[in-house]
Amino acid sequence: MEKLAIHGGRPVRKEKLYYGHQLIEDDDIQSVIKILQGDYLTCGPNVKNMETDLVNYTGAKYAVAVSNGTAALHCACLAAGIGPGDEVITTPITFAASSNCVLYCGATPIFADIDPETYTIDPLSIEKHITHRTKAIVAVDFTGQAVKIKEIKKICNKYKLIFIEDAAHSIGTKYDGKMVGNLADMTCFSFHPVKTITSGEGGAVLTNNKELHRKLVLAHTHGITHDEELMEDSHHEGPWYYEEVALGYNYRITDFQAALFRSQLQKIGRFINRRKEIVKRYEEAFKAIPEIILQKEIQESDTCRHLYIIRLDLEKLKCTRRQFFDAMSEENIQCQIHYIPVYWFPYYRHLGYEKGLCPNAEDVYRGIMSIPLYPKMTDQDVEDVIHAVKKVVEYYR
Ligand SMILES: *Cc1c(COP(=O)(O)O)cnc(C)c1O
Repeated sequence: MEKLAIHGGRPVRKEKLYYGHQLIEDDDIQSVIKILQGDYLTCGPNVKNMETDLVNYTGAKYAVAVSNGTAALHCACLAAGIGPGDEVITTPITFAASSNCVLYCGATPIFADIDPETYTIDPLSIEKHITHRTKAIVAVDFTGQAVKIKEIKKICNKYKLIFIEDAAHSIGTKYDGKMVGNLADMTCFSFHPVKTITSGEGGAVLTNNKELHRKLVLAHTHGITHDEELMEDSHHEGPWYYEEVALGYNYRITDFQAALFRSQLQKIGRFINRRKEIVKRYEEAFKAIPEIILQKEIQESDTCRHLYIIRLDLEKLKCTRRQFFDAMSEENIQCQIHYIPVYWFPYYRHLGYEKGLCPNAEDVYRGIMSIPLYPKMTDQDVEDVIHAVKKVVEYYR
């Protein structure tokens, strides 16, 4: 048996590999420079171009580009009319923004449990949590896998709920042949550098609904309109006139971020293929290891994986997750845990949420670990990760 680096053995590799990293190429940089040298840094035509690109890529009717994925979720909740007294059902295995957006609106996030095999929100648990106050569902395409769209839509139709898809992980994924972005009432993307394509910070909300689109536009730019048709007083004083018709925020993205996004979107096909190749190699290598449980996929989802998660069977391994995590770090593979159940955080505990709320989520959480997955990884990087995982498993089995 190989000695772990943590015990003075030789690490699998020299430089650290992180769980995720952007891939920025010369043409990306050139496209940003071009916009920086032009007339518009913000509120210019390139933001509109970004929105058009998103519409063309996903097939959705409307896109509103915003400053980040969290702003996208907040705008979606505002457009859905979520406010005090309302409840919104979401998953605890997500980044905190998926439920924080509900709190921003003065409403109450309700946590439904996850499916213990796919790790996405369980429609049966959603239905159990519906009350007369329920207004919307924020379902998260965790790791890039599409949620159970068909089942969730059925629930939304039955109880007249708005379906918001947090697709921060899942641009490029298809469900039943249809692109994510064109499936829910509103779909929220994030273009943070760890996500599949990046604009630095950035995000977008997509919808097929004209009225929701109008509200999204207002929400992300102060509730101010220059559109005569939307004004209350159309007999105005002059061309400088505009109206604030709702309370909105400044959640605009800049034109040079839009340039980076547009350049990245052109190469998303290559990024998706590389991610799929790496996932395939991981699956081959890990399915033979009984101490590692793999995330299951529903057959409808043609997934562009954002995160690759291994779940440790801690009954079979003679170590804690912490020991496994530390041993991987010593091998120079920097893993991460996605995610701590949101309602475990002190802020949520102080609001009255308690541990034990979602047993599947808590059980899955105890064993999961994200290992490196990003298009910039070389074949050797991928083999190093596999070697490290096998080495640590063999040591602790
Ligand atoms: C990254 C992320 C967000 C927030 O996106 P930002 O662009 O960082 O604000 C929201 N939800 C999920 C699931 C995410 O992973």
